[in-house]
Amino acid sequence: MAAVEKRSRSEWQELDSEHYLHPFTDHKDLGRKKSRIITHADGVYIYDADGNKILDGMSGLWCVNGGYGRHELVEAAAAQLRELPYYNSFFQCAHPPSIELATRLTAVTQPQFNRVFYTGSGSEAVDTMIRIVRRYWELLDRPEKKVMIARVNAYHGSSIGGTSLGGMKLQRAQGGPLVPGFEHIEQPYWFGSDRKMPPEEFGRWAARQLEKKIQEIGVDKVAAFVGEPIQGAGGVIIPPESYWPEIQRICDEYGILLITDEVICGFGRLGHWFGADRYGVRPDLMTFAKGVTFGYLPLGGVMVGDRVADVLIDKGGEFFHGYTYSGHPASCAVALETLNIIEREKLIERVRDDIGPYLQKKWAGLAEHPIVGETRMVGLMGALELVRDKKTLERFDPNKGVGTTCRNICVANGIVMRAVGDTMVAAPPFVLTRTEADEMIEKAWKCLDLTMAAARA
Ligand SMILES: *Cc1c(COP(=O)(O)O)cnc(C)c1O
Repeated sequence: MAAVEKRSRSEWQELDSEHYLHPFTDHKDLGRKKSRIITHADGVYIYDADGNKILDGMSGLWCVNGGYGRHELVEAAAAQLRELPYYNSFFQCAHPPSIELATRLTAVTQPQFNRVFYTGSGSEAVDTMIRIVRRYWELLDRPEKKVMIARVNAYHGSSIGGTSLGGMKLQRAQGGPLVPGFEHIEQPYWFGSDRKMPPEEFGRWAARQLEKKIQEIGVDKVAAFVGEPIQGAGGVIIPPESYWPEIQRICDEYGILLITDEVICGFGRLGHWFGADRYGVRPDLMTFAKGVTFGYLPLGGVMVGDRVADVLIDKGGEFFHGYTYSGHPASCAVALETLNIIEREKLIERVRDDIGPYLQKKWAGLAEHPIVGETRMVGLMGALELVRDKKTLERFDPNKGVGTTCRNICVANGIVMRAVGDTMVAAPPFVLTRTEADEMIEKAWKCLDLTMAAARA
């Protein structure tokens, strides 16, 4: 029955190099090194074609939060595919799973959210959000309010819209011109700063860069501020507690929209339904994807708050926007079952009160390691900073690629962590047990030892 052939590891690698263009990949480099072929997975472990068992400390790509091998999700998808595999929601149509999910989503989000727009991914959600924001100000007869302010090193997907809104230098440098109307302020990255200010003061300073930018551009031209509650792909940048309340104050004072990109933080990663809940902010719009289906099928969307939805609906007429797969029935059915699992197994409480604090404490212990300059973790989303000199916190020569070395050592030693420069990041599934957490930390320590030896060789 399986649609995929049985082939050997080297056959897969050969065909892969010949035909498959991977995301965010240097193919000349990959051609030399070959891909690791992942064949199956169960719980928090993935298995490669050589039979190696690897603890997935990244939940796939920040999405398989409920772990692998969830038969309930498989059944939800299969049942929906049998019943109605596809129908669109253009032209006055809808179907039960997309309506049911919309209703459930408004119940788990803050009270201002009563409506959702579906997309197939996070990047699409970001594009949809950008179009909604621009449309909103147009409809209020303020078409000159176009500028959206984001942060340096922000990741908002890799479509042309997400690339333009995002703050990743290397990504932005390719394939311009980008979409106009985006500005960037400093990220709240205390460890990456000169550390002259104490963290809370630094957090307020970083938030006030928004105020400075608004004044510089002129509030008449500013539409919105957009930020990930914790920057993920940028290196798990956890803002000081002072940061988000100050951002909220500034958005309120200047009347601009506040938008949180919840693609990673949403659906429990921080021990709350959304990052906005963790940090006590009230966004006007939220983008989501990844964890909404535990990664079992693609789905994304934008939660649209009443302030914006009322204008779009009352004044907007037809919004010329949408995707063939907006509200795909099988994806919505899987999302519904994902919400069931999160609630039934109390996974958010588990992250907030149980495995989260347990792993955080152990993770903090990695700060004792001679090449670790800082550790940080909120919920189940953490980072550690590799440094050459623990006393001065001086970093390794960036050309040495110590982070990448560490990542490769990790995978070879049975644990997935990701490198962002010389920042190692982790975001394990919410179902991680204490034994698995212990294993994760033991392996991380051993890999740090091996990385230290490699870096000093
Ligand atoms: C992953 C991510 C995206 C893009 O989502 P895709 O599904 O990969 O398009 C957008 N924003 C954030 C914060 C992300 O982490």
